[in-house]
Amino acid sequence: MASLPRHMFIPAPMRAHAYQDYAVPIGFGVTISQPFVVGLMTGTLALEGHERVLEVGTGSGYQAAVLSRLAGEVVSIERYRTLAEAARARLAKLGYDNVEIVVGDGLAGWPERAPYDRIMVTAAAERMPETLVDQLAEGGVMLLPLGPQGGTQHIVKLTKTSTGVSREDLIPVRFVPLLPGQAHEL
Ligand code: SAH
Repeated sequence: MASLPRHMFIPAPMRAHAYQDYAVPIGFGVTISQPFVVGLMTGTLALEGHERVLEVGTGSGYQAAVLSRLAGEVVSIERYRTLAEAARARLAKLGYDNVEIVVGDGLAGWPERAPYDRIMVTAAAERMPETLVDQLAEGGVMLLPLGPQGGTQHIVKLTKTSTGVSREDLIPVRFVPLLPGQAHEL
């Protein structure tokens, strides 16, 4: 994260806030996540370098960029085409070529490349998205903010083994909502 230019992921008017430890608005009512939370979630995935990772909620592309340096390949899905295209352009400019950004409904996951060794959801779900759990490989880890909109959500860590899925609740957080469907307006 120290080597990543976070200012490049933030629209010009908000760029002065790029290196502060808080979420920053990037348009469409969404934010680039707080660096502390990005670091905590990324660290919890315990990546070794070979994994296939699915991120739900590309936003600025910053989290995808962080993941791309630590994993084998990253697929990141975003419901707003405009955000996805901007993120794609940023990552291309930085020369990060192991990230594929796709437009669609992240609640459906991205079955074309499943199963994933790691899944990171960066928007808050009110209920466990079972379709995503299905796309997690055995031995895989999924992280997502879970809880009511506007209430207390927790980062939940799911670990899938041959005998089932175990759950651990980590820190309380506040994320923008995981909304159903691809955004048709933009
Ligand atoms: N990880 C981002 C920040 C995510 S903000 C970053 O590093 O900048 C949450 C993002 O999730 C928003 O861009 C929002 O549009 C997107 N999102 C919400 N619901 C979604 C869904 N169902 N499918 C795909 N993306 C979704």
